[in-house]
Amino acid sequence: MVNSYYYNGNQYIPSSGGDWNKGYLIAGAVSAGIMGTLPLFGKPFERQLAKEHTQNYLYKDAFLNSLKVSGLDRKGVRIIPMQYSKIPDSYSSGQNAAYFPKEKLVKINTDKISIAGFHELGHAMNDLTGKFGKILSKLRYPGIIAAGWMGTVALFSRSKPKEAPRNGFDYVKDNCGKIAFASLLPMVVEEGMASYKGIKLARKTGLAEPLIQNMKKLYKKALLTYIGKAVATGLAVGSASMIMDKFTRPQKIETPQYYLF
Ligand SMILES: [Zn+2]
Repeated sequence: MVNSYYYNGNQYIPSSGGDWNKGYLIAGAVSAGIMGTLPLFGKPFERQLAKEHTQNYLYKDAFLNSLKVSGLDRKGVRIIPMQYSKIPDSYSSGQNAAYFPKEKLVKINTDKISIAGFHELGHAMNDLTGKFGKILSKLRYPGIIAAGWMGTVALFSRSKPKEAPRNGFDYVKDNCGKIAFASLLPMVVEEGMASYKGIKLARKTGLAEPLIQNMKKLYKKALLTYIGKAVATGLAVGSASMIMDKFTRPQKIETPQYYLF
């Protein structure tokens, strides 16, 4: 046996650099495959958002009005109508809208997707009123970064035998998929809260109930894309970790019973 060693009375063969390479290639292919399913989660939302352009006029006045109704204008929040922007991007074309907490700005094409604006004002409310929403909104970007790191941690080799005592980093390595998923939960919950508050605000502004129902449909599809992101990331990192464990964990050599006598 080449290079084998004993730990706790058991014989182990450590992994080689070649084992790590094989694991890395397979882990990379499997996680890319899982992340490749992400557009499927986003499609229903994108489709409805594109359709909403034609009935924007039903939502526009209520949306512009809702800034006052919410009281966010007195907190310094402003709406930037991106159709007047000279820079062509996803905001000016009406494929995307966003709230920027530092600048307290909602960037949105109000001639195309005012329906999405209530949700963005929901983000502003999360950020500026109420503690829980503020904490979640502060955790959002660190969470995304942490999930990215878990993808790297998954690819570390597992040099200790399964039976060896674990330290903190071993724990992180063994649970990186779950940690990646959990790191993205603040984002998912904050998105859900922004939609909930946005719908409430639309009602308060006096938007008709059928329009509210249509808005709810769109917001559910938007949430699905975020849930998909968290689930796919957790699964991709978790599978990569399992594969690296299989390839790089020292292999225990089972000693046949009769050798002991
Ligand atoms: Zn959002």
